[in-house]
Amino acid sequence: MAKFRKIGILTSGGDAPGMNACIKAVVSKALTLGVEVVGINRGYQGLIEGDLRPLLPKHVANILGRGGTILYSSRSPMFKTEEGMAAAVKTCRDNGIDALICIGGDGTFRGATDMTRHGIPSIGLPGTIDNDITATDYTIGFDTSINSTMQIIDKLRDTCESHARLNVVEVMGRNCGQIALYAGIASGAVAVVIPEIPFDEAAALEKIRKLREDGRRGMIAIVCEGVTNPDGTPYSEAFRHTITEKTGVETKFVRLAHIVRGGEPTARERSTAMRMGIAAVELLHEGISNVVMCELDGKICPVDISFALIADRMYKSKLQPGDLDPFTPEQLEDMRLLCKKRQNEIQHLYKVAQDVAN
Ligand code: ADP
Repeated sequence: MAKFRKIGILTSGGDAPGMNACIKAVVSKALTLGVEVVGINRGYQGLIEGDLRPLLPKHVANILGRGGTILYSSRSPMFKTEEGMAAAVKTCRDNGIDALICIGGDGTFRGATDMTRHGIPSIGLPGTIDNDITATDYTIGFDTSINSTMQIIDKLRDTCESHARLNVVEVMGRNCGQIALYAGIASGAVAVVIPEIPFDEAAALEKIRKLREDGRRGMIAIVCEGVTNPDGTPYSEAFRHTITEKTGVETKFVRLAHIVRGGEPTARERSTAMRMGIAAVELLHEGISNVVMCELDGKICPVDISFALIADRMYKSKLQPGDLDPFTPEQLEDMRLLCKKRQNEIQHLYKVAQDVAN
C-alpha cells in the first residue's frame, strides 16, 4: 500500500525550461503507484492561499515541449513568516496533501525543508537555468538556456561578420560562469568573462587587436551578468566601450537576459527533468524526504537538503558561524570535495574557452 495518497507539486523562484516535463513525469509515475497529484499554482504563495488544481494525465498531456511552468511561479516573502508557514501547512492538511515536491533553487529548498520540519515531508528538485547549485552537476533548464544562448549568438555573428563588428553579449548566470563558458566555447567567443576567474583585460584587448590586424571581421565576447565594475555597475557595458576605445574595433552590446529562460526544452532537459521527477516520487513512496534530487556523474541521486544548502554556501564563500557544526568530519570532507569538483570544472572550461578563442 502506498505510503502517500496525495502529493502536491509546485514550481518556485525563477522558472526554467524543463519544469513542465518534470511535472508530467511526476504525475505519470505517481499514477503507477496509485498516488494522486495536486498542482499548486504560483509556488509557496499559492500554497498559502490554497490555489490548487488537480493534475491528472489529461492535464499534463502535451506539456513536455513547453517552456515556462504550467503551475506558474512567484516569490513569496509571506511564506518565510510563521503565519505564512502555518497557512501553508493548513492547506496541506485541509486538502489531504501528504507530501510535497518543490522545484526551484536554494530558496525553494529552504521552503521544502521548513515544510518537512512542520510535518509535510518534502523533496526539492533543482530548477534554474544557471546550473549554480553546488550539490548537483546539473540543474533543470541549463541545457536549453545554453543552446538558446548559442543560437542567438550564431545570429549575431552573421551580422558582426557582415559589418566587421565585435559584439559583447551579456548572459545570465548570476555569479556562476557556466552559461557564459558553455555558450562561449560553443560559439567560438574571443573572450569569456566570468565572476569566478580574474579577467586579463589587457591580454584580451591585445588579442582582439591582433585578430583584427590579421583580417578577422566578426567577433563575439561573452560576459556573465555577475561580473561587475568596482562601483557595482555591469562590467559588460564598460567592456564594450573599452574595446572600442582601445582597439578601434566597432563594438555593439546586447544583454540577453530573460530571453534564454524561455523556449522549448531540449531532449537532454526533458529527460533529466523526468528522471529527477520520477526519482522524487519513488523516494517519497519509500518514505524518504528532505532531500534534493541531484545528478552526480550521470546518476540521479538524493542529497540531504541541509548538506546541499551548506555545501552551496561553502562553495560560494557565504558560510555563517555555526553552519558546519551539524556535520560529521566525513560529510565536511565530502563538501570540500564537491567544492573542489566545481572549481575544477570551471577552471577546465575556462581553459578550453581560452584555447579556442582565436
Ligand atoms: P530560488 O528558489 O530560485 O532560489 P527564491 O530565493 O526567490 O528562488 O526562493 C523562492 C521562494 O522560496 C521564496 O519566494 C520563498 O517563498 C521561499 N524561500 C526562500 N528563502 C526561504 C527561507 N529562508 N525559508 C523558507 N522559505 C524560503
